[in-house]
Amino acid sequence: MIRVPPHRGGWLEVVCGPMFSGKSEEMIRRMRRAEIAGQRVVIFKPRIDDRFDAEDVVSHAGVRMRAVPVGSVAELSARASGHEVVGIDEVQFFEATVVGAALALADLGARVIAAGLDLDFRRLPFGPMPDLLSHAEFVDKLQAVCHRCGGPATTTQRLVDGRPAPYAGDTIVVGASEHYEARCRDCHEAGIDAVTIAA
Ligand code: ADP
Ligand code: MG
Ligand code: ZN
Repeated sequence: MIRVPPHRGGWLEVVCGPMFSGKSEEMIRRMRRAEIAGQRVVIFKPRIDDRFDAEDVVSHAGVRMRAVPVGSVAELSARASGHEVVGIDEVQFFEATVVGAALALADLGARVIAAGLDLDFRRLPFGPMPDLLSHAEFVDKLQAVCHRCGGPATTTQRLVDGRPAPYAGDTIVVGASEHYEARCRDCHEAGIDAVTIAA
């Protein structure tokens, strides 16, 4: 595939995939290269859990880069001005207005890189991701390694006490005793209540 960015104006890149697929690493890699090119860059992340590493994007492998936690899309838009490259990590946690905000930044000439989970733990499209993916000029869907079988993982398994989490649980849980694994389609397990809810 030929990947030639538009010559004028900005554009939107989306990096998606399950947990552990390397989205944050890829975000950091792209941002470092932009920095080397002398561009003004900034990474935002949702201010959800600021108990630790509030100021960094940190990958599961420990790679990190300075990030600005924001409490709202309005704050993101306000603080993005003046930057040529705008990263948004964990973009699935933002409200739907993040789509318009990202497109407005691109229209103003920014290269916007949005990274996030395409699917929640139920394997349903996550928040603003479908719209972001539709509008993006460039999309990369990364895979992790399935924690169970070692195959290519495209989903995120939420476990509570080692068992598949209830389907009816909240989509976003912060600081709970949950545990997540990357799983392939075959190894992903629905919560025990999924059949009842789907019926
Ligand atoms: P994401 O942002 O998509 O959750 P990260 O960039 O934080 O991903 O982490 C990717 C890193 O996680 C990999 O480079 C690898 O070192 C580590 N890792 C741990 N478990 C797995 C797994 N099951 N599959 C792939 N990478 C994994
Ligand atoms: Mg990440
Ligand atoms: Zn598997």
